Amino acid sequence: MNLSEETQKIIATAQKKLTKAFEEVDEIATYNQMKVLEAFQTNNVGQRHFSQTNGYGYDDIGRDTLCKLFAQIFGGEKAIVSPLIVSGTHALTLALYGVLRPGNEMLAITGSPYDTLKEVIVGEGNGSLKDFGIKYSQISLKDGKIDIQAVLNNINENTKLIFIGRSRGYEWRNALSVNDIAYAVKEIKKSYNNICIMVDNCYGEFIEKIEPTQVGADIIVGSLIKNPGGGIAPTGGYICGKSQYVDLIAGRFTSPSIGMEVGSYAYGYKDFYQGIFMAPHTVAQAIKGSMLVGQVYSDLGFETMPLSGETCGDIIRSIKFDTQEQLIDFCRAIQEASPIDSNVVPYPWDMPGYEHQVIMAAGTFVAGASIELSADSPIKAPYIAYLQGGLTYEHVKIACMYCVEKLLFKNN
Ligand SMILES: *Cc1c(COP(=O)(O)O)cnc(C)c1O
Repeated sequence: MNLSEETQKIIATAQKKLTKAFEEVDEIATYNQMKVLEAFQTNNVGQRHFSQTNGYGYDDIGRDTLCKLFAQIFGGEKAIVSPLIVSGTHALTLALYGVLRPGNEMLAITGSPYDTLKEVIVGEGNGSLKDFGIKYSQISLKDGKIDIQAVLNNINENTKLIFIGRSRGYEWRNALSVNDIAYAVKEIKKSYNNICIMVDNCYGEFIEKIEPTQVGADIIVGSLIKNPGGGIAPTGGYICGKSQYVDLIAGRFTSPSIGMEVGSYAYGYKDFYQGIFMAPHTVAQAIKGSMLVGQVYSDLGFETMPLSGETCGDIIRSIKFDTQEQLIDFCRAIQEASPIDSNVVPYPWDMPGYEHQVIMAAGTFVAGASIELSADSPIKAPYIAYLQGGLTYEHVKIACMYCVEKLLFKNN
């Protein structure tokens, strides 16, 4: 690639500004690596846990130990970790249906849950929670934080589950910090100890030294083709937290009569173990890449979120472009800079579960894995690209060069 001097200079200048911030990211990664390593040692993980299993999978020690490992790392009593969970949306759906019963109310306290959950919660005639007589209400964030007074005012005797979205999803806001979540949990639990507080933890794992389950959240839920899969897990999802809820969710996941006693995986579990082992490092790579892209675009005069220098609460970087064309160009440059399908040109398209057309750049080894470098955005004004992932910082840096070249010299 013939990089202009201008682009090289922009990237080098941005990188220099981030030296201090990168040190902090490395420090968190080291802490989390230790936490993960200790969990491997406590659970005596060995080659025998990687074995392929089939059929019912009774006494599948690979599966059972993987669940224990996640529970320890995330500070929950129990966990469900499974390649049989097809995605983050599936894991979240299982968790909601596992805990909620007809007549209960679900209260979302960070505005709209992630796009793909809308049909799950309030869809009509599609088997949604609403179809099963589960009510729903929602409270928006106030100045980017949970509006705790409004939350407490809106809890009623039917409120059974409070839903917190840690990451921004497709919203122009920052992710919540674990501290923000801790404060809300504490205030809610003071008066309502038997409401289940569930956190959509997607994109949040290993960003900080603690997870929401370590500050009192009852359940956290996420995808294995995001942070905790470390870029290695080929599929799957997890649910972790208090036993009373994890057991109910296990009953929904398989069957009330068999719960987590069954489930096999004919490909073996090595990639899940190796994935969670790699995850603290991979997340740090993605965060550093995200910081660099944020700094570069902010230096170029675009609005980005988080602001450059601000700490990250998730691995996503939002960049607000002036035009739809710039947005599409950005996603195309990311695709061109990918190791896989670099010749594919992304176009805006209708996607199941999303309201607007979405453009997605994902030249990834694991299809759609957004811990790998990817960019996507709904096609609507204001034109915001959401960039996430990157298995290596170097790759994100190179991709950022592609993007800047396209922005500066498109017509040359
Ligand atoms: C990715 C994501 C989900 C789940 O999406 P899947 O594509 O089904 O894995 C849910 N919430 C947030 C915030 C996410 O980022």
